[in-house]
Amino acid sequence: MKQEVKLRDKVTEEVVFPPLQGRCGARRAVRELLQWIGENPDREGLVETPDRVLRAFEEYFGGYQIDPRQHLARTFSETASYSGMVVLSHIPFMSHCEHHMAPINGKAHVAYMPKEKVVGISKLARVVEAFARRLQIQERMTAEIGEVIQEVLQPLGVGVIVEGKHNCLCARGVGKQGAILTTSYFSGGFEEGELWRKQFETHINTAQNVAGSVGL
Ligand SMILES: [Zn+2]
Repeated sequence: MKQEVKLRDKVTEEVVFPPLQGRCGARRAVRELLQWIGENPDREGLVETPDRVLRAFEEYFGGYQIDPRQHLARTFSETASYSGMVVLSHIPFMSHCEHHMAPINGKAHVAYMPKEKVVGISKLARVVEAFARRLQIQERMTAEIGEVIQEVLQPLGVGVIVEGKHNCLCARGVGKQGAILTTSYFSGGFEEGELWRKQFETHINTAQNVAGSVGL
């Protein structure tokens, strides 16, 4: 795993995406793709497009430069008497399928049952982002998120549910608009019995209702 070179802007808390190496070849490749589809890459509207595509790709695929373990490195052990499930639901993400490089838009729901230590909640969202900003298949991304949380935090169990809309399914091929793929990962107590999974689902639904009632 590469060392994390992407740092958060201290003021905005936004992730800063540094330029990737070898831009000349990539720029040329975009130009060739434009020609291949029948476009003239020298016309005014397209002259800057290869550079814009490269900058967009640095955002879409910035996850390769992030080690998600680093997001989970800082933990808190003072949780007072809290011993319940920690759930961060409805985390929006954008990824790209590795078969067509088409966008996948969706939401991830992440839960874990802490054993002594917890992480800052934004870190769970960062872990989702680190894996989403790569070429993915949703099944693997779901497992990767769950496995890294299980490995680093070593909680009593982890649950991850991901719902994604795949543009390669909607915009081409069988053309199924609106179809949503749901994938899940469960470990520890989530895997062993239904109770924690049901509790996790209740948290997701409650969050959905609360968000609706306060206009989120
Ligand atoms: Zn695809």
